[in-house]
Amino acid sequence: MKVALVTGAARGIGAATARRLAADGLAVAVLDLDETATKSTVDGITAAGGTAVGVGADVADREQVEAAVTRVVSELGPPTVLVNNAGVLRDNLIFKMTDDDWDIVLSVHLRGAFLVTRAVQAHMVAAKWGRIVNLSSTSALGNRGQVNYAAAKAGMQGFTKTLAIELGRYNVTANAVAPGFIETDMTAATAARMGVDFETLKKGASEQIAVRRVGQPEDVAHTISFLTSEGAGFVSGQVIYVSGGPSSGF
Ligand code: NAP
Repeated sequence: MKVALVTGAARGIGAATARRLAADGLAVAVLDLDETATKSTVDGITAAGGTAVGVGADVADREQVEAAVTRVVSELGPPTVLVNNAGVLRDNLIFKMTDDDWDIVLSVHLRGAFLVTRAVQAHMVAAKWGRIVNLSSTSALGNRGQVNYAAAKAGMQGFTKTLAIELGRYNVTANAVAPGFIETDMTAATAARMGVDFETLKKGASEQIAVRRVGQPEDVAHTISFLTSEGAGFVSGQVIYVSGGPSSGF
């Protein structure tokens, strides 16, 4: 049984991805900041007949990441599928953005993806097989109030393409998915911060999106399922926008 590690998988896109990969037949390590928060994802997978373990770690902390990967290897086996999904927002216009707003966002997304990938890739290289998927965003193209997040998500694309070049010779692919508006706690928190009712925000966003709806975590999970599948071995270094149309809608 192949082993997948999904970060930020307590909820949202990460949880949907963990469920989907388990349904695809993989054993899944459900990693999040707080191990107890992973329980509902893990219980949902095991109740459906799948295999999962919850692991607590801050992806931006090298020691915690290395300990977490060691635990995954001993409890499930060496991971050969990795989804770098953990993320945070600290939105503000640049003149109000603090040093911490910048550092936290760059640290969780970019340093986090770097640390986890560095710890996991050795297992992929040893297996001569691997699939890495990194979460970018339509915000990589620019989004008001998100210089930190846009920089991190554009960075994820360059990170992904370079992984594809370095690891391809070991039969390891690396791709990015760039979601548009997905209905999760993250977008609900954005609505709350803007002082806008979430239903109103979703309705307004839907009108700007070609397929006239916002995305669901399962839309992203489906794309990740394809990219991590055996048959996707000749797709690498790509960025797939999962945004209901050709543009971000914003
Ligand atoms: P979410 O519901 O906020 O879930 C993110 C998860 O990541 C949370 O469980 C969070 O834990 C965890 N996390 C945060 N910092 C972490 C850290 N340092 N170490 C480990 N786990 C950490 O977000 P989402 O909407 O599902 O987004 C998932 C990914 O997709 C993110 O990378 C996001 O940037 C990207 N994305 C989302 C959208 C969207 O519209 N929702 C669009 C484009 C891209 P806590 O709850 O403890 O903080």
